[in-house]
Amino acid sequence: MEKVLEVKNLKKSYKKNKAVDGLSFDLYRGEILGILGPNGAGKSTTINILSTILKKDEGEIKYFGEELEKNLKQIKQNLGVVPQDLAIYEDISAYKNIEFFASLYGIKKEELKNAVEEALKFVGLEERKDDKPKTYSGGMKRRLNIAIAIAHKPKILILDEPTVGIDPQSRNHILSSIQKLRKEGTTVIYTTHYMEEIEEIADRVIIMDHRQENSRGNN
Ligand code: ADP
Repeated sequence: MEKVLEVKNLKKSYKKNKAVDGLSFDLYRGEILGILGPNGAGKSTTINILSTILKKDEGEIKYFGEELEKNLKQIKQNLGVVPQDLAIYEDISAYKNIEFFASLYGIKKEELKNAVEEALKFVGLEERKDDKPKTYSGGMKRRLNIAIAIAHKPKILILDEPTVGIDPQSRNHILSSIQKLRKEGTTVIYTTHYMEEIEEIADRVIIMDHRQENSRGNN
């Protein structure tokens, strides 16, 4: 199986606070990796470093066999990121939101319509595509955030607590979308503090708990 991500001895501190202290794991194509841990365990820090939002202090990160820092631009094109805080424009339609972000990823004009519609369908928002997100429920906004992250068909999708504080219907929708993406060959990394979600969908789990990290397979 193709190794898509290799992390070795990753470290990040905020002043004296060691948020991530020596995390190592490998991830293979089509796997779902769950990062599980309580608040403050370092999940967001890890995921922000992997999403290139934050710089590591030490360690090695290789995507597709290439060092992250040396191939940043190319690697970024292959990543989809769903941050914990919503990154959407409330006052423009869902369709336009996706279109805008997809064009930033360099999707060609003639492919744009298809890409946007596919993403909308994927998260089950086709019927509400012309509505503004300010009229959406919290769960629908999260689904839109996911649509934005997948329209450019990333090889790896990274999500930070995508199911926190949303209705059960949206939660189920998000979990089954993640599984569907996996079937299509997308690799998924996501954080949660719900053990049952990890049991439900993850192939591999990293447990982060106050500077003790372990990686183990889950099936
Ligand atoms: P989690 O996502 O598991 O809740 P975080 O990665 O957000 O954990 O936080 C890990 C630790 O780093 C916590 O002690 C948190 O207070 C600290 N931390 C996170 N972000 C910052 C920051 N920007 N500045 C200072 N400390 C931070």
